Amino acid sequence: MNPPFVDIHTHTAKPSANLIQIVNLDLNQPCPEHGYFSYGIHPWALDDAEFQAEKALQILEEKLKLPQVLALGEAGLDKMHKASFERQIELFERQIKLSEALKKPMVLHDVRSHNEIIALRKKHKAVQPCIVHGFSGTEQDIKQLIGQGIYLSVGESLLHPERKIYKSFKFIDLDHLFLETDMAEIGVEKVYESAANLLEMDINVLKTRIFANFAALWNTGKTEPAF
Ligand SMILES: [Zn+2]
Repeated sequence: MNPPFVDIHTHTAKPSANLIQIVNLDLNQPCPEHGYFSYGIHPWALDDAEFQAEKALQILEEKLKLPQVLALGEAGLDKMHKASFERQIELFERQIKLSEALKKPMVLHDVRSHNEIIALRKKHKAVQPCIVHGFSGTEQDIKQLIGQGIYLSVGESLLHPERKIYKSFKFIDLDHLFLETDMAEIGVEKVYESAANLLEMDINVLKTRIFANFAALWNTGKTEPAF
């Protein structure tokens, strides 16, 4: 048994055997037929004076209907960013509704907004799984998010011993863990190696566990999602 690597969030397709990746595309990019993708409206989109929310949401809805689009993302909230937090919340709520209506899990950009994300998911009775990507928080953040059933995805920060995630990583329950490359120009294999070292775990066991999470989210026990 040689489970595939899963790169749950990347901006660059890195074709390789035995790798499943969800490639994040911009709304104006056409969706390739093969592979797995995500589309969403990032809160930073609000910076653009020309941004038209209704139009973007309409395009997003069409993209999400494609079977190879596995997730809605990145969407979320960013307290450190200049865009009005109220407008960010409005946009995020609309996307929670789309995620629920079209039954697509969400990949979240969450900067100091755990409380709001949890509260808004409750408000909308969200049942679609969600993954906080680029996670780099503390043990307490981990408990708070996983306590709400939220998945955490960690990226190349695991290659940097000085980052706080390096110490807190072991507190992430394996049933709620994903790994990713995001913008980094490395293979996800490197992230897996570092994660396996930190957990003192065989890399194949780690691959099996993470692939099981992937299969659970997208309802398949097979080696590939069912479409
Ligand atoms: Zn990203």
